[in-house]
Amino acid sequence: MTDAGRQSALEAIAAEVRVCTNCRLHQTRTRAVPGEGDPETEVVFVGEGPGFNEDREGRPFVGRAGGLLVKLLASIGWRREDVFITNIVKCRPPGNRDPEPDEVAACAPYLHRQLEALDPAVIVTLGRHSMGLFMPGARISQAHGTTAPVDPATGAHDSTVFAMYHPAAALRTTSIERESYEDVARIPTVLIESRDRRNGNLLARREASLAAAAATAATSPIGPVAASPDAHGDPDDQLTFF
Ligand code: URA
Ligand code: SF4
Repeated sequence: MTDAGRQSALEAIAAEVRVCTNCRLHQTRTRAVPGEGDPETEVVFVGEGPGFNEDREGRPFVGRAGGLLVKLLASIGWRREDVFITNIVKCRPPGNRDPEPDEVAACAPYLHRQLEALDPAVIVTLGRHSMGLFMPGARISQAHGTTAPVDPATGAHDSTVFAMYHPAAALRTTSIERESYEDVARIPTVLIESRDRRNGNLLARREASLAAAAATAATSPIGPVAASPDAHGDPDDQLTFF
């Protein structure tokens, strides 16, 4: 997708989210929170759902958890504008309760389309709900700080998921805060590894399709003219021209 195509796809999704009534959460929201960030980013952060402040502002992670997320990013020299930040559900569950399975299912197509448009090398899940979408069956205490390949059914292709604790959990528990700083410090390496793997896969696919095209050209009776030695002309043929 081109830069402009990516940007307009994300804007179209956000516009739909802002007026969405596909689940009961629309009844209690102030503003839907589609997500925001750099359309060209290689890294997408996925939280759980908007809280009180996010619901009022229509932007993700702008409350206390967001403050910690910004500090975690700053510890590796990144700014929130450098990445894309979104949530599993785009409207606030009342009283910050966990989203219900049917609400997660209703909202999933938006995240799917965002991931398709962004095509990130790395998806960072924040908290166990988000992790559950990308690492089914994993336990956060074991899986935080680790990677897994991303199932293309999520909308992201050839991507790597990296699990982290939710910043709200880190605000409650000092040891989780410390582990969160350790985990976030791994992201640049995870990104480089995913980028290299994707480039390698892309190269391998290109080579395979070039080899297939060459094989077709060699066997095709109406193959490209340039593939025929006669048409290229050997020096003797050329002499007859003059
Ligand atoms: N917690 C989340 O999971 N998402 C937000 O956007 C804010 C807090
Ligand atoms: Fe629509 Fe998602 Fe909001 Fe439910 S949570 S109303 S599916 S945008």
